[in-house]
Amino acid sequence: MGIAETELKKFEYSTCDENKLFYQAMEEVIYSIAPLLESDSRYEEYSILERLVVPDRVVKFKVTWLDDNNKIQVNTGYRVQFNNALGPYKGGLRFHPTVNEGVLKFLGFEQIFKNSLTGLPIGGAKGGSDFNPKGKSDFEIMKFCSAFMTELHKYIGPRVDVPAGDIGVGAREIGYLFGEYKKITSSYEGVLTGKPFMFGGSLMRPEATGYGAVYFTQTMLEMEGKEELAGKVCTVSGAGNVALHAIEKLQQIGAMVVTCSDSKGTIYDSRGVDLELLKELKMVRRTSLEEYIQVHSDAKYIPLEEYPEGGHAVWDIPCYAAFPCATQNELTEVDAQNLIANGCVSVTEGANMPSTPEAIDLLQSHGVCFAPAKAANAGGVAVSEFEMSQNASMSKWSFEKVDEKLKTTMQQICKRVALTAKDYGVEGNYVHGANIAGFKRVADAMIAEGI
Ligand code: NDP
Repeated sequence: MGIAETELKKFEYSTCDENKLFYQAMEEVIYSIAPLLESDSRYEEYSILERLVVPDRVVKFKVTWLDDNNKIQVNTGYRVQFNNALGPYKGGLRFHPTVNEGVLKFLGFEQIFKNSLTGLPIGGAKGGSDFNPKGKSDFEIMKFCSAFMTELHKYIGPRVDVPAGDIGVGAREIGYLFGEYKKITSSYEGVLTGKPFMFGGSLMRPEATGYGAVYFTQTMLEMEGKEELAGKVCTVSGAGNVALHAIEKLQQIGAMVVTCSDSKGTIYDSRGVDLELLKELKMVRRTSLEEYIQVHSDAKYIPLEEYPEGGHAVWDIPCYAAFPCATQNELTEVDAQNLIANGCVSVTEGANMPSTPEAIDLLQSHGVCFAPAKAANAGGVAVSEFEMSQNASMSKWSFEKVDEKLKTTMQQICKRVALTAKDYGVEGNYVHGANIAGFKRVADAMIAEGI
């Protein structure tokens, strides 16, 4: 039995339903870091894995709020503070009906390594609620955010834990959360990132994850001796913050993006998607993508239920580079087969863990360049840390300065990941490279800090 199997055996309790995603994330990391564990006995000696897979603390609380009909609603809120060996806990808040402790443990665990890869002083955390923002009025969103912060504020602080956005939590929600924090504590401080620019947000935070994923891909393709993205057809899934800004940057560098998707269906526009219209539909009107074809009647809308079991329409469209930017496990083995058959050269994870383990294996075994989420989508948290720096020094950086720093950070992450993979005998495997490099920095800090 190899070291990875031995380590995994210790955590079999984690396979219960709620912990499935967490176990999937943990399994990948443990397999990847096996060569590191074999080469350095300190990690075993200091029980680093056993300590790393258990969050420092999980806070679970009741959120009670009044809807527009003055009916009392009850949701559950969470904050999973996973590891602060490298700096204050840092990670987004997700508002979605599928949120539970297991989902947030998976996301918080991934966040530790992602934050470590940035080279910045930030630990890993994640939080959120099973609250569904869809169909809620602005006032209901505000009332929910206030109620959520009434409890959350006890556990966060600029040097303690600094939440940000994620699915269902954008600048509007962060604004309401910040307002409530300020009201409760009378303190105007950088306790959240992703704030609107007018009260302490960083320029480029909304763009950072999507732009960063494209910068990462450009560097990876160059390092792997592949053709650049300019002039190439790309496919993107999702139509949220990450997807829309990945599309924006791809269009800016001359690539042609022909798809996007939401939880109900996929748009295929062979002449290139109309980004202004997408922003209007998803960011202003918050409506379904189906309305896209009312303006562009020659584009195709493929409802989710019209695509065969096990696959997704968006990955069946021929492309040079694919960018899954919607949600976890949205790119399956069937999708990987379709991408390979259509000649796809690179896959970049803009979302967190959007590809299943089977899909990743298949893509890599067919020579597709594969950029894993914890490296490729780290641009968002990197700019969040830039926001923390600006708040701490009461300064404002220009768009150009943030963009330049983001680009440099993504290039450095990509090179660090590629070199680490090479050093550990798995050249070209960005999954192993990211896991080893991310783990090593945190583990070394944990050893240095003692138990
Ligand atoms: P948003 O809430 O802005 O957007 C999510 C998008 O994905 C929506 O368009 C949503 O559709 C769509 N979606 C959700 N579920 C599905 C599904 N099953 N199939 C197809 N589409 C789906 O979230 P973000 O863009 O912020 O986050 C997207 C991903 O990126 C998540 O995995 C998140 O954890 C990750 N991420 C986000 C960062 C950030 O800075 N925001 C940073 C790093 C990672 P609909 O509009 O119908 O709801």
